[in-house]
Amino acid sequence: MIVSIGETLIDFIALQEGPLKGVKSFEKHPGGAPANVAVGLARLGVESGLVSKVGDDPFGDFLLERLRDEGVRTYIPRDPERHTGVVFVQLIGAKPEFILYDGVAYFNLKPGDVETSLLENVEAVHFGTVLFAREPSRSTIFGLLEELSGKVPLSYDVNIRPDLWREREEKMLRDIEKALGLADIVKLGDGELAYLKGNGVEVEDFDFKLLAVTLGEKGSELMSGSIRVHIPPYRVEPVDTTGAGDAFTAALLAGLHYSNLLGAEGIDEEHLRKIGRFANLVAALSTTLRGAWSVPKMEEVTLMKEVRDLYQRSRR
Ligand code: ATP
Repeated sequence: MIVSIGETLIDFIALQEGPLKGVKSFEKHPGGAPANVAVGLARLGVESGLVSKVGDDPFGDFLLERLRDEGVRTYIPRDPERHTGVVFVQLIGAKPEFILYDGVAYFNLKPGDVETSLLENVEAVHFGTVLFAREPSRSTIFGLLEELSGKVPLSYDVNIRPDLWREREEKMLRDIEKALGLADIVKLGDGELAYLKGNGVEVEDFDFKLLAVTLGEKGSELMSGSIRVHIPPYRVEPVDTTGAGDAFTAALLAGLHYSNLLGAEGIDEEHLRKIGRFANLVAALSTTLRGAWSVPKMEEVTLMKEVRDLYQRSRR
């Protein structure tokens, strides 16, 4: 099983174009990057779990029900003190606008909420940056990562949400550096890579087993040790690119799982290309459906020849 740790929340997506200030109505969708990855993995046929926290409220009921419907194992206590997280989001245009709220249940994740023995026995643990932004979730997640580092492969999607770090950018950069130092597999967007470089964080200098840089419609780049490959995009007509990065991450981890390479020290060029093509293909297909939970099921993708090759290789 691959377990994701982090926020699960309600995305309220604007139904009218333009800045949030002028939006009149929103549509409710389940979301949160680690939850999106957990659902993506389950759809791709990999046993998947999510560690998070939701409020004792109707949105918490909704998220738990939807995650379980998707086949995700939920390690998600109800918070008697705080409400389920919500985000208001405007996705249209080059610059998406987000409003994330403080004082929500996922930021209240405490050490006692997580079964450490469960995490020590999984195939990989996946996490992002959001829980670092507040306490007690920051101490909880870093405590776990430090305990698991070297025992369980750690996958990190940098996923920067500047709105959560206003006036504290330096602190965010130091936390990202700390997480990069603990991670084995790292995924980030080319914009995030450039932003970190501009602020003195040289991501490529870290010693990861796998580094994946997503390039939007230009595909992705995968690196392992001294091997670096560019993976061209899979051509589609996108309808909604929300969660394309999370679909990519889910497929990257699923590709590693099916190739029995999750715990490997390094990945050869042939496997990098195969896993990269699989991740680009799944991410591209996800952009043809609306919402963040738009990864196609493994039964559908295995109808495609190159996916069949990757999938069958691990079954031999
Ligand atoms: P986020 O979802 O948070 O924006 P991200 O920045 O990692 O994350 P992108 O780089 O936009 O996301 O996309 C992730 C992957 O999805 C790309 O590497 C690519 O494989 C695929 N993808 C995204 N947009 C397109 C597109 N227009 N056509 C084909 N593939 C795409």
